Amino acid sequence: RLVLGIETSCDETGAAVLDETGEILGESLHSQKHVHLRSGGIIPTIAQQLHRDNIERVVQEALERSKVDPRELSAVATTVKPGLALSLGVGLDFSKRFVRQYSKPFIPIHHMEAHALTVRMLQHVPFPFLVLLVSGGHSLLAVARGVDDFLLLGHSLDEAPGDTLDKIARRLSLITHPRCSTLSGGQAIELLAKDGDRKKFHFTTPMGQTNDCCFSFAGLRSQVTNMIQKQEREEGVEKGTLLSCVNDIAAAAQHTVASHLAKRTLRAILFCKEKGLLPPSSPPLVMSGGVASNLYIRKALMAVAETTGLQLICPPASFCTDNGVMIAWNGVERLRERRGILPPNVDVSYEPKAPLGIDMTAEVKAAAIRLPP
Ligand code: ATP
Ligand code: MG
Ligand code: FE
Repeated sequence: RLVLGIETSCDETGAAVLDETGEILGESLHSQKHVHLRSGGIIPTIAQQLHRDNIERVVQEALERSKVDPRELSAVATTVKPGLALSLGVGLDFSKRFVRQYSKPFIPIHHMEAHALTVRMLQHVPFPFLVLLVSGGHSLLAVARGVDDFLLLGHSLDEAPGDTLDKIARRLSLITHPRCSTLSGGQAIELLAKDGDRKKFHFTTPMGQTNDCCFSFAGLRSQVTNMIQKQEREEGVEKGTLLSCVNDIAAAAQHTVASHLAKRTLRAILFCKEKGLLPPSSPPLVMSGGVASNLYIRKALMAVAETTGLQLICPPASFCTDNGVMIAWNGVERLRERRGILPPNVDVSYEPKAPLGIDMTAEVKAAAIRLPP
């Protein structure tokens, strides 16, 4: 069984051909990140145009590299939710034409489901497991009970942690920093934080008084921004030209993000234990998404996993971020379970907003689990 996966939900045009064991036969990825980095955020019409410019070639390349003829494919899997409407549309339109042309089954994919399942392509991770997804566009905690069976325990009420780190990095003009010019905001902050003292600044961990597993990062961003402004004023430098304490601010901000993620995850684990949602002996805690490549944050989650008897699993960085491989793998998993496979001529629409699985956030809140001090 061979599956072609296509991803265009945000700013990556990706395609890959996988066999049913998860072996990557061929892949191609075009990232728009460098374009959007310069403009200080994704402009949807530009993202759409870049997807249009690249989709044909990216899919062609993945097929050529895999030496698979489209007629040999068992199905085509494509991200249809959630994401930027204009971006999703490009991948979906292309896929619809493709599956009609070759008469192939179509498997619509939920982008976050794909992120959650990628780890199973790399190693044996049986259901159920707890998953923490943290990226530039999302943060969520969920119990993965099956290929298309998720319980959503928490999600961000405002922005995602990667987005917050990107905005803080931009406020600090890290793109002009000699050591950071090619790095994403999150990577820049991780690098500078290594030489910083997090104790020089204190930011309050978000949502300390809320007994649920949801996230909030917008308040932290204003705390950090205010602190940057104060330092700029004290040192009498222009906006975005702070030098002296940038490392310390980066370290403190990163620490607070880590502490927020760790506390929410700890509550999610305690909730799962109370409700018997995870197997008793060392259930997996999967962490993925761009922010999951941060080693300081990994350490914080490792500590949570160790105290609660879970086993932290983080896929390598290249499988934490967006690509066609994760979409193809989700297709393989769905094909195997015969879940959500559509005929070539069926009409599917994209959904910019789509929560993952059954919403359990109210149940988590009602359980009112207090964390040990
Ligand atoms: P989504 O997958 O939700 O659509 P996205 O495409 O922006 O969003 P990814 O490509 O998975 O997400 O990850 C990019 C994000 O991860 C960026 O916000 C970036 O700053 C952040 N990031 C990357 N590396 C690190 C790191 N080492 N530490 C912290 N954040 C990081
Ligand atoms: Mg992306
Ligand atoms: Fe993603």
